[in-house]
Amino acid sequence: MPYLQTGRDKLKYLAAAVVVLAAVTGAALLFLNRAPEEYRREEYALGTIVRLSVWSKDEGQADAALANTAAAIARYESLFSANIASSDVSRANSAVGRDARVSAETAELMSKAIEIANMTGGAFDPAIGAVVKLWGIGTDRARVPADTEIAAALKEVNYKKIKTEHRGEKYLLSSGNGQKIDLGGIAKGYIADRLAELLRSEGIKSAIVDLGGNLEVVGSQPKGRPWRLGIQDPLKPRGEYFAVADVTDSSVVTSGPYERYFEKDGVRYHHIFDPSTGRPATSDLSSVTIIDRDSAMADALCTALFVMGRRRAEEFLRAHRELHSVLLTDDGKVYITGNLKEVLSLKDASKKMITIEGTER
Ligand code: ADP
Ligand code: MG
Repeated sequence: MPYLQTGRDKLKYLAAAVVVLAAVTGAALLFLNRAPEEYRREEYALGTIVRLSVWSKDEGQADAALANTAAAIARYESLFSANIASSDVSRANSAVGRDARVSAETAELMSKAIEIANMTGGAFDPAIGAVVKLWGIGTDRARVPADTEIAAALKEVNYKKIKTEHRGEKYLLSSGNGQKIDLGGIAKGYIADRLAELLRSEGIKSAIVDLGGNLEVVGSQPKGRPWRLGIQDPLKPRGEYFAVADVTDSSVVTSGPYERYFEKDGVRYHHIFDPSTGRPATSDLSSVTIIDRDSAMADALCTALFVMGRRRAEEFLRAHRELHSVLLTDDGKVYITGNLKEVLSLKDASKKMITIEGTER
């Protein structure tokens, strides 16, 4: 039968079209109004537990973002680890008297490390590798070395001998004779920065990057409130905080002797070394926290301020008023820079919060 379009058919089509349109619009609106969901990934990498959380309305976007960050972590570890023989750092360490060709990221990270070494008068020294290796803290070779061994290793600690060079497309790195570069005090911060950048470029608006306590957040919480990040109480089980910081697009990094150590004859030997003695730093601080958008800087600086101890750290913070820092002392006092007053809330009533003199606004 030939097809004849009647007025009634037209109406039917119109009605069907309206129904379809309404359904599509409804579905789109539902999708847009849906609350973003959390997607997580947890793995062992960078010598610690890495936890990534991204919030998205789109499972595909979240899965891709998590997979890409995991691939980036593996790549950075293969470049920066002093324990992987083929890494950029290991090749620079073994290329005695020669340059090693390295990736642009290794060169950038090394330059940052040298900048912070200069800024802290060598309290942070990325050439600390010989000392780190000698003590072996965190490995099954951990031991207390003889004074002569410490003195010999200490001779090799001087970041001023590290050279980075940029020739056309090539980045070169040389460690200086006998020196061992160790980026353990800055690499996690740098990697957190790169991961946050990667997540933003994938369109993620809310995320938490936790590289073994080195925290960096993307944006704010899905509903727009700042993220609330806790600062670990060194004397309590992991996850118990003495203070909480409200942050957006920032990072919170803490260094302390409680992370990695071994005990011998009742003495605790930890993994943050004083580059002037070649021994675990004897600090009157139990932890140092830095809150900054630049997590690489925060990571390196909190290691350095821990080495400095309270007096020198306070002096440093007075001279660098742009920094946000929390110094926790062994006797339970919480010294903060004045710019943290509205950012930080104390959770432990037994502790006392004191603004560092000369950092009030
Ligand atoms: P964590 O690795 O627990 O986050 P840190 O950020 O304080 O702790 O880094 C400690 C690591 O940094 C050590 O394991 C070592 O590899 C390296 N390191 C130790 N002391 C120094 C120092 N004074 N300067 C630079 N790097 C250091
Ligand atoms: Mg550090």
